Amino acid sequence: MRNNDTLYIVVPCYNEEEALPETSRVLLGRVAELADAGRVSRESRVLFVDDGSTDGTWKYISGLKAVSPYAAGLKLSRNRGHQNALLAGLLSAKDDADMAISIDADLQDDVSAIDRFLDKYYEGCDVVYGVRSDRRSDSAFKRGAARLYYRILQRMGVEIVPEHADCRLMSRRALDALAEFKEVNLFLRGLVPMVGFPSATVEYARRERTAGSSKYSVKKMLGLAWQGITSMSVRPIRLILALGVTLLVLGLAAVVAFSIVTACGNPEWKWTILLAAIAAACGLNLAAVGVVGEYVGKIYLEAKARPRFMVEDYFK
Ligand code: UDP
Ligand code: MG
Repeated sequence: MRNNDTLYIVVPCYNEEEALPETSRVLLGRVAELADAGRVSRESRVLFVDDGSTDGTWKYISGLKAVSPYAAGLKLSRNRGHQNALLAGLLSAKDDADMAISIDADLQDDVSAIDRFLDKYYEGCDVVYGVRSDRRSDSAFKRGAARLYYRILQRMGVEIVPEHADCRLMSRRALDALAEFKEVNLFLRGLVPMVGFPSATVEYARRERTAGSSKYSVKKMLGLAWQGITSMSVRPIRLILALGVTLLVLGLAAVVAFSIVTACGNPEWKWTILLAAIAAACGLNLAAVGVVGEYVGKIYLEAKARPRFMVEDYFK
């Protein structure tokens, strides 16, 4: 069995000064144990990524080097959102790490699952997905919305691992492949399955946040959900196209029918129906333009190829 590879645990942090004392203690302790046991190398690190926090997060992270040789920190120049912060950490880690595990700063994902992630990795898996077998700590609304959303994504043809968010292990080979995806509209849990390579899943129960409150506002959550559909699938455009064609055929048939009705000598109320049809067609047009516009907007952003993050500081 292979052993002693270098592990980076990547932790995106946005205003997490309340959660970090506990989180850093647990994660740095975990890596120290694993290194002592020879499961991972002494070059392993816990890489805390400060996603442009406005509180004392970076101050705390930079103080960690004095506490543990396994601490590393990366500071983004401003808040870029969870997906970008995670990617920044993973891509920075990949030059030094044989594998990287991403985990949230609030320890909602079970840290003891890391052992099972490593088992799968040493068995030869390049990607190990953390799957939440029990989400009782999330509200019924959040659970229901998530389930419905995943169903819609699957309908749209997006390949996704059910009940998996962004807690996963990736080998360097998988990270190199992920780096080849140059898009700025990031939806990592849709991209990683596209990377391929041998993969496995590990189940764990999702817990309560250790401290602080959720950093995912409703706006950010809806943004991510919308991103998942529009940056991974073009099926909405096809649906609109199908709808448009259907309406066109029905409209033409109606024109023929109305002409016959008129010719038969009773033209009284056909105009109201016609007006309704026009209104519906206008609505459809607007919706179609809106959806197409969404994609045009994405093409515009991709064409500009803006950097997805800017590193301000990095120690390891
Ligand atoms: N996060 C981030 N940038 C943001 C928002 C969140 O890096 O703009 C981080 C946050 O610090 C945490 C992870 O993303 O480590 C998940 O956020 P949170 O736990 O608040 O989301 P929830 O679990 O409530 O969905
Ligand atoms: Mg959380």
